[in-house]
Amino acid sequence: MVDAVPPKGDFLRRKASQIRMDLLQMIYHAKAGHTGSSLSDTDILTALYYGGVLRVQANNPKWPLRDRFIRSKGHAVEAFYCILADLGFFPKCELETYSQYGSRLIGHPNNKVPGVDMNTGALGHGLSVGVGIALSAKLDANAFRVFVLMGDGEQAEGSVWEAAMAAAHYRLDNLIGIIDWNGLQISGRTDEVMRTDPLDGKWRSFGWHVELAMGTTSMK
Ligand SMILES: [Mg+2]
Repeated sequence: MVDAVPPKGDFLRRKASQIRMDLLQMIYHAKAGHTGSSLSDTDILTALYYGGVLRVQANNPKWPLRDRFIRSKGHAVEAFYCILADLGFFPKCELETYSQYGSRLIGHPNNKVPGVDMNTGALGHGLSVGVGIALSAKLDANAFRVFVLMGDGEQAEGSVWEAAMAAAHYRLDNLIGIIDWNGLQISGRTDEVMRTDPLDGKWRSFGWHVELAMGTTSMK
């Protein structure tokens, strides 16, 4: 008897649930972590890494033609580490060392970890670096793409908009910015801390092609 191949959506939903359980165990074990922010973008990361979007190789993390992924909302690293371990970039048992003294799995993305392209944590830097990498790919005629995951609270950083403007100026169609638009940041609701609506309209006005994920409501 051969099991039916599950629909992709079911596979992705189950994988995202597994990653959420893994990251909760990791945070519980470490007694440290950014639980809400990691749970928030698990679906995004699952789609990127298991949905056939990112072109990466777990057994060859420095493959020159890999797509680059920059986790600009670097404070929430747990789902990212769990996915890299699940894919075999490093042993899954290493997750138990998260946030422990001497571990390379520190509380922010760290490029000593296979699969991590950029150290991040201070918000607002990822897109600028992504612009530079995407521009270099164009100049070298490399076909890889650069994905940058940002938080919606991070949109209050002025450097995000300098990078957005530069990306449009250089027509970087190999750069994909993703915003985890959950309406929250560490210090409260984003519309109370720093209102950025209409966020999609702002990005369009900076020359970007904008797509809203299913279920997202534009706040124009
Ligand atoms: Mg947020």
